[in-house]
Amino acid sequence: MVKIDVAIPKTRFDMLTYDAPDTVGVGDLVQVPLRDAEKYGIVIRTYSSRKVKHIKKIHDIIEHQFLPSPLIQLYSWIADYYLAHMGEVLRLAIPQKILRRHEPTLQRAEPLVVREPLIPNPAQAAAIQDIQAALKQRTYGTFLLYGITGSGKTEVYLQCTDNVLARGGRVLVLVPEISMTPLLFDRFKERFSGRVITIHSSLNQTQRRNVWYAIKRGEYDVIIGPRSAVFIPVPGLELVIVDEEHDHSYKEHERAPRYHARDVAVMRARLENIVAVLGSATPQIESYHNAMAGKYRLHTLDQRIDAKALPGIQMIDLRKEKGYLSPRLERSIQEVVERNEQVILFLNRRGFAPHLMCPSCGFVAKCPYCGLPLVYHKPEQKRRASLSCHICKYKREKISICPQCSRTTLLYRGAGTQRIEEIATRIVQRVNPTAAVVRLDRDIARKKGRTETVLSAFQQGEACVLLGTQLVTKGFHFPGVTLVGVVNADLMLHLPDFRSSERTFQLITQVAGRSGRGERPGTVLIQTYHPDQYAIMCSQLQDYPKFYAEEVPVRRELRFPPFSRLILLRIKGTNEDSVWREARSIAAKLRPLSGVQIFGPNRSLYYRVRKYHRVFILLKVARTYRHSRLRFLLSHRAKGCALEIDVDPLETF
Ligand code: ADP
Ligand code: ZN
Repeated sequence: MVKIDVAIPKTRFDMLTYDAPDTVGVGDLVQVPLRDAEKYGIVIRTYSSRKVKHIKKIHDIIEHQFLPSPLIQLYSWIADYYLAHMGEVLRLAIPQKILRRHEPTLQRAEPLVVREPLIPNPAQAAAIQDIQAALKQRTYGTFLLYGITGSGKTEVYLQCTDNVLARGGRVLVLVPEISMTPLLFDRFKERFSGRVITIHSSLNQTQRRNVWYAIKRGEYDVIIGPRSAVFIPVPGLELVIVDEEHDHSYKEHERAPRYHARDVAVMRARLENIVAVLGSATPQIESYHNAMAGKYRLHTLDQRIDAKALPGIQMIDLRKEKGYLSPRLERSIQEVVERNEQVILFLNRRGFAPHLMCPSCGFVAKCPYCGLPLVYHKPEQKRRASLSCHICKYKREKISICPQCSRTTLLYRGAGTQRIEEIATRIVQRVNPTAAVVRLDRDIARKKGRTETVLSAFQQGEACVLLGTQLVTKGFHFPGVTLVGVVNADLMLHLPDFRSSERTFQLITQVAGRSGRGERPGTVLIQTYHPDQYAIMCSQLQDYPKFYAEEVPVRRELRFPPFSRLILLRIKGTNEDSVWREARSIAAKLRPLSGVQIFGPNRSLYYRVRKYHRVFILLKVARTYRHSRLRFLLSHRAKGCALEIDVDPLETF
């Protein structure tokens, strides 16, 4: 008999201790009694050091080595680093309803067919050679592939994948969202038809479970999936690729563990002793810093394929040139449409107008819960006109009479994507009455299949303008696009967050990279009130290294990441007093700890969301700080409130 620690998926327990026969091993799937029920659990440790009374015996070993031990180490690392319970980690890591009475239906892949690679240019060849050399050594190594948009990063991924497959190994490719990266997926499918599988968010639970088992059995050689795919057991895994490593959708925001899939991927590579490749045109500052510090190996692709020119970028100073779409942008759009080319317009705000106000008495329509201005949405697609809160989703019908002074002259101020859609449609139809504008934002993407319809309409040339929020900044390749217009570059700049410059630079650079990818050269016009701000200036120059050089001293000075690590504690609850009381009591528990700088408790930027009050405490620790010292937070029972822990938060408000 041995004393073992078992984690049970979907429980808020960390681990439970049982007696088991000596034959039990780490990663085994076991059946255990828990109160009056039978549960499946995974063996995490076969030597328990926990002090527990009345230890029960496990009932059965269902499968030896259900998960390989490097993965168990990875899951343990996640629980430690992101300050979460093992039960919460396993909820993400293994399918719901692990076993059913029936064997999962066998999903068989087609035989592998590999197409001819392209001839790499010298920069691609250098990266490929270096990565292949590391693959051959079969040791851990992380590469950062910094390549401007259109420089051929995907081809590097493909040739490294080819190399691994030729030796019988397997490759895991993480992408921000499948529907946003159809191109990458198509290119993998085209090159390696047969043994490629993608994990879509549209799979239902049964399909998801079948796919999980098929991958675990080794049915597929190339697995492409979103952030949660980083947990899947893949036998013979030799390479993990993280495309667009800077993308925020790699971070889990909603539930514990609030992990970042890129960082988990790098840790996985380390534990499995394999190679990780991170790619981006706008690396997260931390990643580039790791490359500069020698932790990652850097490869730079700084030319577009065929020496295609980067688009010429011009600023439009909104202090001098007025209008939602200034006359210069309007003229440029018309010229592009006259030439039968295409335009992408980017504005990071949904709806028609962000403010509804009364010019007579100053009334502004606000959310009764959050107190923030309500956004006016025009009616469309069976949805009625509404005023809605983008923070808490509160919604009410539109008003046409001022509730304060009863006048009917309400003003819709500011512009969201719906208003720009109207304006842009008028502009293009003056050139060509049949010209069309398509829009892509979350209101559109909510409807199943709509995203694909919009993108394919634009791809086929049925529309000459694609207008949207950050959804349009992703890695699309539309050869017809010769103009990108950034309607308002300043929207992200004003967030009270240390990443606001980085976000601004990334979004503008990414969307600018959509211009001039075909035969004809491209242009980008950026409308801004702050043409001198360095993030906006560097994005005009398309110069990431320069932006990095400007940004790093700011971070160092303020001791923000990468020069420290942040841990955000958010306390929320319905009773305002108890939220503050709990927040202060948590802060008081933290204060005696050495090596932890504490900021707050403070009001969150969105202090009231629906019935919740939200307060946060920000902790700054050294990068070498051991998170186990904060583990006591997990057992803190805040009365009447919830405590959320976010390690390495992407947003700090
Ligand atoms: P990125 O991923 O860096 O934005 P892509 O990999 O999409 O760039 O490459 C841009 C375009 O160049 C694609 O159409 C791709 O097929 C083509 N391409 C990439 N590498 C080569 C190469 N070595 N020779 C010819 N064409 C290439
Ligand atoms: Zn609200």
